[in-house]
Amino acid sequence: MQLTSLKDVFEHELKDLYSAEKQLVDALPKMAQSASSDKLKKAFEKHLEITKEQLSRVEEIGEKLGAKVTGHTCEGIKGIVKEGESIMKDGKKGAALDAALIGAAQRVEHYEIAAYGTAVAHAEELGHKDVAKKLQKTLDEEAKANEMLTEIAESSVNQRAEA
Ligand code: FE
Ligand code: ZN
Ligand code: FE
Repeated sequence: MQLTSLKDVFEHELKDLYSAEKQLVDALPKMAQSASSDKLKKAFEKHLEITKEQLSRVEEIGEKLGAKVTGHTCEGIKGIVKEGESIMKDGKKGAALDAALIGAAQRVEHYEIAAYGTAVAHAEELGHKDVAKKLQKTLDEEAKANEMLTEIAESSVNQRAEA
């Protein structure tokens, strides 16, 4: 794909986000399964449902703009997910693995926060006001998910992992 305009760049970003969310729909159930903390397990399960909505949101945006959102692999998320999988393979179920899973999940959220932040700015620049709003909604959800993970780590998991 040749990127010669902001429109091209934005359309590539939509493909990247679509692929990222799609990979996360597959990864989150595994993370929920590996979590021992009930709070953490529930947080992953809840974020899985939100992630499915985020995936549909990207699809809707693609349809609205007449842009194809499939056909690209987000290598960034692929790498982060791969690291998460090796943590699950090496770790034994328990608080320490939970602490590591939170670290892996926060890497995902930060990637998404960066990607959606840029996409919002590009959508606004291109005059796609309602698209920007939709992307901002997802951005807010990712930020909230990240905060929730910090809360779970600091209120229980980190201490348990230390013991
Ligand atoms: Fe997401
Ligand atoms: Zn990419
Ligand atoms: Fe997310």
